[in-house]
Amino acid sequence: MKYIFVTGGVVSSLGKGLTAASIGTLLECSGLRVAFKKFDPYLNVDPGTMSPFQHGEVYVLDDGAETDLDLGHYERFTHAKLTKLSSGSSGQIYETILRRERAGDYLGQTVQVIPHVTDEIRCRFATSDTDADVTIIELGGTVGDMEGMPFLEAMRQFALEIGKNNTLFVHVVLLPYVRTADEIKTKPAQQSVALLLGLGIYPDILMCRTERKMTNEIRAKLSLFCNVPIRGVVEELDVESIYEVPTMLHDEGVHHIVLEHFGMASKNCDLSPWTNVLQKIRAPKKCVHIALVGKYVEHKDAYKSVHEALAHGAIANGFALEVVRIDGEMAEQEDIRGLLQECSGVIVPGGFGNRGIEGMLRAIRYVREQRLPFLGICLGMQLAVIEFARNVATLRAANSTEFDETTPHPVISLLDEQRRVVDKGGTMRLGSYECRVLPHTHLHQAYSQEFIHERHRHRYEFNGAYRDILMANGLCISGTHESGLVEAIELLQHPWFVGIQAHPEFKSKPHMAHPLFREFIRAAIRIKQV
Ligand code: GLN
Repeated sequence: MKYIFVTGGVVSSLGKGLTAASIGTLLECSGLRVAFKKFDPYLNVDPGTMSPFQHGEVYVLDDGAETDLDLGHYERFTHAKLTKLSSGSSGQIYETILRRERAGDYLGQTVQVIPHVTDEIRCRFATSDTDADVTIIELGGTVGDMEGMPFLEAMRQFALEIGKNNTLFVHVVLLPYVRTADEIKTKPAQQSVALLLGLGIYPDILMCRTERKMTNEIRAKLSLFCNVPIRGVVEELDVESIYEVPTMLHDEGVHHIVLEHFGMASKNCDLSPWTNVLQKIRAPKKCVHIALVGKYVEHKDAYKSVHEALAHGAIANGFALEVVRIDGEMAEQEDIRGLLQECSGVIVPGGFGNRGIEGMLRAIRYVREQRLPFLGICLGMQLAVIEFARNVATLRAANSTEFDETTPHPVISLLDEQRRVVDKGGTMRLGSYECRVLPHTHLHQAYSQEFIHERHRHRYEFNGAYRDILMANGLCISGTHESGLVEAIELLQHPWFVGIQAHPEFKSKPHMAHPLFREFIRAAIRIKQV
């Protein structure tokens, strides 16, 4: 097993996750199997309890793990199998150690960061995916952060233990462009590498994030002062589409450097699925405008996978995509027709709490009545049910008990098992569940399958007590779990109106758009052409 460690320096938000994912793409396209791990130095046990405003989206895996959004990049860029063991945090590591300490398992020892915390981290580095050839391990945060130190120390020890030719260090840095000097600057990168060298970590690849091309002089300077061979100084330019990163790193020969370092024979790297995607992105027929009406719209990363899945849907239809982000609270106040004027479809994504809910309901009513394509995801589906109950089934005060505990018509409510839940962390309905799809529905037309599997992350459910009355009024229940839980609803007399309780956005890939997103975008394009 070979290991690649990816760290970041200078500033955060450099796209370390994308870089790690793209290295994975190159190795996979060279015929290797890759595995991924992401470690975050914060003390939360997982990001499940963190606000999307601060931390961006919580990405959910099949096994129900609530993880960092970088795992979404890994899944979109490769076929790696990710599980609960693919991510970790300081909180998780300390939780394990403290539990062990209370159980008396340390047999009288003083429990310390070194060796106990670093040993636990090293254990978690060692991969569980025994079929993989290479495991790529990304460390969140920036080198120099105090809380990241135990992870860097664990990396150094790990590399010493398994040998230099089995580990490769990639350090991602920013080369800022200083306009007044008309120059890109290398000093912050040098200082960041100096920190790493001081910790006993010698980067093999320096991934240089830059908005301008690097001259040979800059490359030579970085090589000399950062102690990285000149081939290992890699340019990672700002790009229009994130899906250009693998081809860009390919042109810089990153896969050759990695394979040579590991003593693996150089293989032909076939990036054709990626170049096909890029061709489609670069030559769209036209542009489709989709409104995203939600709670966290001003935070770019809060609906990361939804944005990506919409983009994949547009790529599959040969169109460019413009997402019009509309805050739910704004939709409460403003003229909804005016807000949605340019858009040929509306998506209401997941969310928690009642902020902006009435605005989202107004948008849903508008698209139902105006016959514009609609995709409701999780909260979006629950709101579509509420809107239908209120305005079609005339249950005027219908609501979810999440927003009004005393509603006379709780069309969305908690199951008993959720009522008993006390802790907030890790206690939602999480992970992949099977759903049976009703034939002759939009859902069936999209998936062409009787049984589908999608990932969940919610507490509230469609209340079965309202099933008959809503169906009698024309609501179609197009997907159900074997327990009888409603998984998807739609309006058959509408050009395209689908709500799904799960999060299909987590399973979309650029060259394999998720069928629901592909069909939603197709319906939106069709509406525009009519
Ligand atoms: N707040 C809703 C629930 O908990 C929806 C959650 C979501 O959209 N992910 O059921």
